[in-house]
Amino acid sequence: MAELLLSGNSKSATKARTVGVLALQGGVREHAELLFGLGARVTYVRTAKDLVGPDGPRVDALVLPGGESSTIDRLLRIFDLFEPLRATIASGVPTLGTCAGLVLLAKTVLDPAPGQQSLGLLDIDVRRNAFGSQVDSAEVDLDTADGPATVAFIRAPRVDRVGPSVQVIARRGEATVGVRQGNITGIAFHPELTGTTLFHRNLLGIA
Ligand code: GLN
Repeated sequence: MAELLLSGNSKSATKARTVGVLALQGGVREHAELLFGLGARVTYVRTAKDLVGPDGPRVDALVLPGGESSTIDRLLRIFDLFEPLRATIASGVPTLGTCAGLVLLAKTVLDPAPGQQSLGLLDIDVRRNAFGSQVDSAEVDLDTADGPATVAFIRAPRVDRVGPSVQVIARRGEATVGVRQGNITGIAFHPELTGTTLFHRNLLGIA
């Protein structure tokens, strides 16, 4: 009741948003902890039922974490989650993909693992592992469209083509490493490992 009275007709901060974190493989917990810290409810998405109920999406926003995109893709299809996830994001549920999550969202993966598919929701071409291997990991300060951010690059992809409706939100040198198309944001790096909250706050702001 208090929540109803306080929130009025705006989706104010009094109503905690529920964020689904895809939890098949990769850096799931760091995203969940960061989102908790921002006052969100977090659910782990492992099956279609975690994502969609009889009345529509069970989540107000989604995070696709980093990890290994070819593994996450394979697990999505094994667990019959690929199509429901694609449909939920296509329906407009605000989504943040980091690193492998960015690869998953892309229309084209230029150097896929054998059989690797992607959701095809961001009109971009990505190249995996564009900044070298695990030993080339780096903590980097970036100026992004959402503000200055200290982030980690770990076997990170790079965006080699952006479609006309895609906004570039971050570059590292000449390389495009952050994009936005409507409610979908894809970043090649990990803000959750350096405690950078601006991308998650942006996600909650539009959820
Ligand atoms: N190189 C990985 C891939 O292609 C992504 C690495 C990461 O998410 N940190 O999926």
